Amino acid sequence: MKVLKFGGSSVGSVNSILSVKKIVEAVEEPVIVVVSALGGITDKLINTSQMAADGNPAYEKEYRDILNRHIEMVYTVIPAGEARSLLLDQVNELLSELKNIYQGIFLIRDLSPKTSATIVSYGERLSSIILATLVDAQWMDARSFIKTEKKHHKHVLVQDATSELLHKAFEGCAERVVAPGFIATDINTGEITNLGRGGSDYTAAIIAAELGAAELEIWTDVDGFMTADPRVISSAYVIDQLSYVEATELCNFGAKVVYPPTIYPVCHKNIPIRIKNTFRPE
Ligand code: ASP
Repeated sequence: MKVLKFGGSSVGSVNSILSVKKIVEAVEEPVIVVVSALGGITDKLINTSQMAADGNPAYEKEYRDILNRHIEMVYTVIPAGEARSLLLDQVNELLSELKNIYQGIFLIRDLSPKTSATIVSYGERLSSIILATLVDAQWMDARSFIKTEKKHHKHVLVQDATSELLHKAFEGCAERVVAPGFIATDINTGEITNLGRGGSDYTAAIIAAELGAAELEIWTDVDGFMTADPRVISSAYVIDQLSYVEATELCNFGAKVVYPPTIYPVCHKNIPIRIKNTFRPE
C-alpha cells in the first residue's frame, strides 16, 4: 500500500487535477490519497474571514470567487450524471454553511480562533470530496481519526488516540481512498482543528506510518529536494537522495518542499519519502 499526497498546486487547476487523476489511476496497488485545498484557497478563506470581521462588505465577492472556483472545477472535471449531481449537492451544502459562517462573522464583527479553524477546514473538505468523485474512491474524513489537543496555545497531535481511531477507520476500507489533509478535531471538545499551515504532508505521513505503507509519495510542483530555491538560484538542481536527518535539517532551515513534522513518523518506521512533480510525472 502506498500513500500519495497532492498539494494545492497539484489540484489548483483543471489540467493539474486531471494529471492527478491519471497518476492515481495508474497505481496498481491499494492507495490512500491525501489532498490539500485547491491552490490558493486556504489563503483566500483566511483573508475573506478577516474582511468579514473588519466589516468590509467586499468579503461577499471573495466568497463568490471561492464558490465559483469549486463549482467550475466540478462542472469541468466531472462528467454530467448521477455522481456529479450527488457531488454538487455536497459541495453546495458545504459552501452554503461557509456563507452563513462568513455572514455571522460580518454581523458580529468577531473572528475567534475556533471559527478560523472551522473556516479553513472547508478548503480540504471541498477538495477531497471533489477528488474522491473524480478518481472513484472511498472518501474518509480525517476529522474522525486525526486528533489533537491544545498545548501551549498550539494544537498538537494526540498519538495514541489517533493511532487507535485511524486503524479502526481504515479497517476493511476500499482499495482506493481519498482523505483531506491538514484537518483534525480536538480530542476533548470535538472542535475542528488542524495540523498547521502545510499540514497535509503531516496527515499523509501519519497515515503512512500507522498503516505501514511501502512508500510515502509527496506530489508537488518541483522534482525533489533541491540544492537551493530554484526561483532564486537558477542553477539549483535536484538532490537524488537524502537521509531523514538531512531532509529534516533542510526543512528546518526553510526548504519548502515538505512540512518539517512530516519526516518524523515515517523515519521512525523507515518508510521512504519520494518527492514527485505532478507536472512532470515521468
Ligand atoms: N491547505 C493548507 C495550507 O495551505 C494545508 C496544506 O496545504 O498542506 O496550509
